[in-house]
Amino acid sequence: MIVVHYSEIALKGKNRPLFEKKLVENIKKAIGSDKVRRVTGRIFVYKDDNDTINSLKKVFGIAWFGKAYKLDRDEGLLKNFLRENLKGIKTVKFNVKRHDKNYPKTSWELNLELLKFLKRELGILFSKNPEKIIEIEILEDSFLVVFEKIKGPGGLPVGISGKVLVLLSGGIDSAVASYMIMKRGCLPYYVHFHSFPNNKDVYNTKILELVKKLVEYSYNTKLFLVPTYYFQAEALKANRKLEMILFRRFMFKVSSEIAKREGIKALVTGDNIGQVASQTIENLYVVDKATDLLVLRPLLTYNKEEIIDIAKNIGTYDISIKEYKDCCSIIARHPSTRASLEEVLKEEEKISMEKIVEKTLNEIDVVEFP
Ligand code: ATP
Ligand code: MG
Repeated sequence: MIVVHYSEIALKGKNRPLFEKKLVENIKKAIGSDKVRRVTGRIFVYKDDNDTINSLKKVFGIAWFGKAYKLDRDEGLLKNFLRENLKGIKTVKFNVKRHDKNYPKTSWELNLELLKFLKRELGILFSKNPEKIIEIEILEDSFLVVFEKIKGPGGLPVGISGKVLVLLSGGIDSAVASYMIMKRGCLPYYVHFHSFPNNKDVYNTKILELVKKLVEYSYNTKLFLVPTYYFQAEALKANRKLEMILFRRFMFKVSSEIAKREGIKALVTGDNIGQVASQTIENLYVVDKATDLLVLRPLLTYNKEEIIDIAKNIGTYDISIKEYKDCCSIIARHPSTRASLEEVLKEEEKISMEKIVEKTLNEIDVVEFP
């Protein structure tokens, strides 16, 4: 079996049972099995194949996990077991944890005794930087032994912090932003704005591929597809320099309506200060005024290289760089970097923004995952 540990720092008081329940639920979904049980501050998974291990690496809330051997609580048995399994090893270190405080030896005493035994039997020495670090837990009725700790992604179980709506462009940043916000326990839904004549045209593009990759971390989601033809037709009347900001505000207005229908309080974007002309503080300010929802921008302060590293690690990079008919490519190349809210509001009246939004809301399709 596998033993799963979660970081407990964030788990004071009444949040703890909620956290544990959600984590168990997510582990079951991740590994596609019900063989998961919560026992005294840890979770046991009664399955230890490679698929299970790979799935657990993606479950937010897990600090570490590892294949565990459960032995009856008999020191002779434990010693024999270690002797059998550590042949050929030269250096070790034990992390002994006494969960059952009634056990007659302290964890330190057991640690010393095991080291003494291994030195005598196999010539194995203690080292601060050993070949193997062995976790031993003293439970009420058993010893648990883990020879290899595997790092989990940490954070909070997805879903525990509520739902958010991620504006997903298909580029590198918004996919990473979604990952970052999942790490803090939010369940992302997605909205994508496209320049095709029909929502169905998005089905065979990288957008669905990207959501399929991201849903590996959240188990379920919805993707809202929104056409931009009404906006594009009217935007021709607007000041070209403001088109980009108007488009951003259009996306925020439509997204806010979707969010409200879904009971969602926050929008998430992949914006990053100064990366492109539309992402100056001035412009972000003007775009923010298009919604009364909370706007989260987890990548605001990241460097591009840092974002790319994460994208590669989580498996979205190769999808994000694929060719795609991006709606931003049809929008003015040299947008204003310091739009004023007043001037933007005037332009919106000129193009009847509220009407565009209203008409667009009737053209949305939703794709559910899985
Ligand atoms: P990304 O890599 O996510 O495309 P970016 O750095 O290229 O980000 P922009 O293209 O200016 O920046 O977009 C900023 C943010 O606006 C994106 O991260 C995304 O959240 C949102 N966005 C842009 N275009 C779209 C779109 N077509 N549909 C949904 N959201 C979008
Ligand atoms: Mg982009």
